[in-house]
Amino acid sequence: MTESAEKIQRPRTGFDPQQARADFPVLQRRLQGQRLVYLDSAASAQKPHAVIDAELDCYRGYYANVHRGVHTLSQESTSAFEQAREQVRGFLNAADAREIVFVRGTTEAINLVAHSFVAPRLQPGDEIVISHLEHHSNIVPWQLLEQRCGARLRVIPITDAGEIDLDAAAAALGERTRLLSIGHVSNTLGTINPIAELVALARQREIPILVDGAQAAPHLPLDVQALDVDFYAFSGHKVYGPSGIGVLYGRYAHLSEMVPYQGGGDMIRKVSFAGTEFADPPARFEAGTPHIAGAIGLGAALRYLEVQGREQIAAHECALIEEAVQAVAGVPGVRLIGTPKARAGALSFIMEGAHPHDIAMLLDEQAIAVRAGHHCTQPLMERYGVTATVRASLGLYNDSDDVEALVTGLRKVAGIFGLR
Ligand code: PLP
Repeated sequence: MTESAEKIQRPRTGFDPQQARADFPVLQRRLQGQRLVYLDSAASAQKPHAVIDAELDCYRGYYANVHRGVHTLSQESTSAFEQAREQVRGFLNAADAREIVFVRGTTEAINLVAHSFVAPRLQPGDEIVISHLEHHSNIVPWQLLEQRCGARLRVIPITDAGEIDLDAAAAALGERTRLLSIGHVSNTLGTINPIAELVALARQREIPILVDGAQAAPHLPLDVQALDVDFYAFSGHKVYGPSGIGVLYGRYAHLSEMVPYQGGGDMIRKVSFAGTEFADPPARFEAGTPHIAGAIGLGAALRYLEVQGREQIAAHECALIEEAVQAVAGVPGVRLIGTPKARAGALSFIMEGAHPHDIAMLLDEQAIAVRAGHHCTQPLMERYGVTATVRASLGLYNDSDDVEALVTGLRKVAGIFGLR
């Protein structure tokens, strides 16, 4: 099929990725004289002008520390910072902006829940349930609680397709479960997990739910009230915003009962040597000077996504990942890792006789950026009997030209390794 015929056959979504690409200055770069094909957005997404400008405007125009100042710059910074919080609230459809805690990223959000929500409720032998698909940041914090509190980690198995086994999930959730902590979308396989079904299972047993939304937030429209989750975490840098800023959504009833795990300035109502009264959420969990320009940049990123149309982005990416899966599967020697029915953003594969790092290097020589390694999912690698995969991951700026470039590049690599 010719490139243009392929494009015509893809469903029209009303979203133009080429126009979006023009919003991202780094994507205008050429590498080795060739168009940059960026297929590593699951690791970190590129930034549009709107985000870069928002951060620059903050530093150039009105930057000062937030919350404590009466002077004009501090008031302007505070107002922009709190507007960003409101933007996040809208992005998640949370009921109240006080349910939005700014953190460094998904990792910090999960650690916060581990320390301040789960740890105080744990008795030795209590369980935290995760799945085999999780990123290390949704594994290691719970292992630390195993060491500290005598808790046990239970893992829901997955099928060969890379999907959560719902019967096994039902069996894993029991009287000792203190939290179900589950990724919304797998960063390695792209599997979209059946959150609604998992929430229903957990709710029947009155088990609180944390969703790691690091890979869902860039791709899927979200509604934490409809999802009916207790906590939802995501990172700014994966939704086209700055790094060093992220979000923990938590139900206000939970947040208001939680004791902070970091103390310092800005999170108190009153301090004396006799004791400290904590501020209300979210300030209670935002000790110290926050990433002010980062939060403002994140607000700009979420506004950008809203303007592009989140449903339209999702429809475009859904069609494109399907196209990529079909095309990559046809390259000689390629074996896809995981074949989930519902997938967003990413696909993983290996190639017979070729090390994933060599494949990534040979693609880089063709100006194609993919990631090779374990993708912080070593238990998942073990499940498939591999130590590493090549992962191609999409952003809203990718299109059929990128998929075609990837497949052409891979065919060259296959040729180098003698695969026909
Ligand atoms: N969870 C998932 C599914 C991820 O993909 C990542 C990052 O790759 C994280 C958590 C951790 O995110 P961060 O490094 O931004 O804290």
